[in-house]
Amino acid sequence: MSYIAENVKAVRTRIEQAAKRSGRDVKYIKLIAVTKTVDINRIKEAVEAGLKIFGENRVQEAQKKVTSYELRVTSGKIEWHFIGHLQTNKVKDVVGSFELIHAVDSLRLSEEIDRQAKKRGIVQDILIEVKLSEEESKYGITEEELLPLIESVSKFNNIKLLGLMAIPPFFDDAEKTRPYFKRLRELRDEAVKNGFNLPELSMGMSHDFETAIEEGATMVRIGTAIFGERK
Ligand SMILES: *Cc1c(COP(=O)(O)O)cnc(C)c1O
Repeated sequence: MSYIAENVKAVRTRIEQAAKRSGRDVKYIKLIAVTKTVDINRIKEAVEAGLKIFGENRVQEAQKKVTSYELRVTSGKIEWHFIGHLQTNKVKDVVGSFELIHAVDSLRLSEEIDRQAKKRGIVQDILIEVKLSEEESKYGITEEELLPLIESVSKFNNIKLLGLMAIPPFFDDAEKTRPYFKRLRELRDEAVKNGFNLPELSMGMSHDFETAIEEGATMVRIGTAIFGERK
């Protein structure tokens, strides 16, 4: 077995155990393999190991992989997610090529996504990125601005809002991240009480995904634990 296949197996086991601990059904937890800096050959190994959803955070690097002929012929059906910060002028390169855009954090950005999706005659699935701490995360909408943004985005015809995403501050001790994951879930629950249907919570990375699952993550974004340290 390749080291990637072994890592995928180990990560899946940890996801299952975290789901079990928190009384959740593992089928509602999607593993998104983060492939930034990872080359096509290693992505192919991940596909062979059974992974189906891949995440990229830079437009240029992502496009090469999404359009890779080599990957398409070997992979069958895989799904790409755009997980990084998206600039308005890059929206046209992302809409339609990625099943889900994880980190939408302004009205201006969602307007452009809606406009580009309309041009292509599609509905683009998105998540809203929430900034849960003052200093640590650069991007994301504040808690106060979240509900107004959800209301605005829900009016667009060519966007489907599926949920929320966050990148909490990094702690060596993953337990310290728990309040942030919990907070994102509470914000989602508040939005649901206000009549919005937001099933997805994209939260948790290599060092803290088990805590995120215990707090309700439906998508975990994992790079290092599958592909090893990035250079
Ligand atoms: C790189 C990245 C990840 C994965 O990080 P790891 O620690 O390698 O698992 C997850 N989410 C986003 C937005 C990233 O940029």
